[in-house]
Amino acid sequence: MKNRYLLNLLLLLPMLFIIVSCTSNPYIRKIPKEQYVVMLSLDGFRWDYSQLADTPNLESIARDGVKMESLQPSFPSKTFPNHYSIATGLYPDNHGIVQNSFYDPELDRYYKTGDRQAVEDQAFYEGEPIWVTAENQGLTTASFFWVGSEAPVQGVYPSQWKRYDHEFSYEARVDSVIGWLNLPEKERPRLITWYYPEPDGVGHHYSPESQEVKNMVEYLDSLIGDFLTKLEALTIADQINVIVTSDHGMARISGDKVIYFDDYIETAWLDTALGSNPFWMFDPKEGYKDSVLLNLQSHPHLHVWEKDSIPEHLHYGSNQRVMEIVAVPDINWSIAWRAEEVPTDYVGGAHGYEPQYKDMHGIFYAKGPAFKEGYIQATTENVNIYPLLAKILGLEPAETDGKLENVQHMIVPRMLSTE
Ligand code: AMP
Ligand code: ZN
Ligand code: ZN
Repeated sequence: MKNRYLLNLLLLLPMLFIIVSCTSNPYIRKIPKEQYVVMLSLDGFRWDYSQLADTPNLESIARDGVKMESLQPSFPSKTFPNHYSIATGLYPDNHGIVQNSFYDPELDRYYKTGDRQAVEDQAFYEGEPIWVTAENQGLTTASFFWVGSEAPVQGVYPSQWKRYDHEFSYEARVDSVIGWLNLPEKERPRLITWYYPEPDGVGHHYSPESQEVKNMVEYLDSLIGDFLTKLEALTIADQINVIVTSDHGMARISGDKVIYFDDYIETAWLDTALGSNPFWMFDPKEGYKDSVLLNLQSHPHLHVWEKDSIPEHLHYGSNQRVMEIVAVPDINWSIAWRAEEVPTDYVGGAHGYEPQYKDMHGIFYAKGPAFKEGYIQATTENVNIYPLLAKILGLEPAETDGKLENVQHMIVPRMLSTE
């Protein structure tokens, strides 16, 4: 009799364990089969802006979901290379958008952010953006501005996309995205990418720790609050994963830390110089490569490399669009030419520096059925976002530099086991 009682208890124990672990484990939730991803990029939103301003809505995402300590950009930490790294999971060297502006020797054409014809030409875009992966696998996607979404990469556009319009009303962007999520199921996009060009603009103009940046960050946070409220009213609210991210951070620059190229080299030694503070590339004239290198390398705050000897951690220099010499200064330093002298009392903001500087780091906040609650993810590189999105949307991912294993701890374990 006693033995039988013991046996029953032994049989019950595993069940009790399961019941206890189900009720006490905060990560166990019902996981909807069809999940949505709505990813917003706030250009130039530095990793620590939420400590410099009041951002209750971003903090609510962190509380209900996950927050990354910081998101490390790819090199160079500029807007176009990094939005396209987030979209493709590739370093700029491997996706081809090696800078905001570059020259392609094979096409014999320039790519420039302001040149609509170039920006909308698929010939410049390598790799596979997540919306192309999704569309090819039968999912509908939409984009309210994202670098690369205005060109038919591999012949595929998002089902809905917009031609970039810097002035488009910020409030109307919220309503358009909500409108897409309100569409009948057949047309409703499962992946939406959208974008605001701030706080990058004010960060450049007034410097990252300015009152203007604080005001802008608080305004953007209020838009996120409006967005979250409208999202919660949707019938599919519990199927939606919300991501708020950024392409890079911002560093303070000042007129007392300027390197004038023409104090070190003759412009006559250069065939082509292409760049914007603080990142520059050069093709020297025949016979002048060593002079350019040696003279620029003499500045203690300037890093100058031949394209094939760029430090490995920058994953840069193999693409034919990277010019022969690459130059970038220490953080907080600027590069200029004497023709555009910078007043000594000038203060502003810049990005483009090496990604290991924390001031170059952006943000990653996310909540929704795929994400754990109240989880803090250590800093990771932005190339890991593509595999994360592919996992959440149940897509077979393309080959990427990023790896799911670097970010999968943000996802509820049951999603990882449901193949
Ligand atoms: P930057 O700070 O120079 O790296 O670039 C930021 C600027 O990129 C923003 O102010 C936008 O005007 C611009 N931008 C962002 N996305 C696009 C796009 N899809 N097409 C054209 N310009 C864009
Ligand atoms: Zn940017
Ligand atoms: Zn910028």
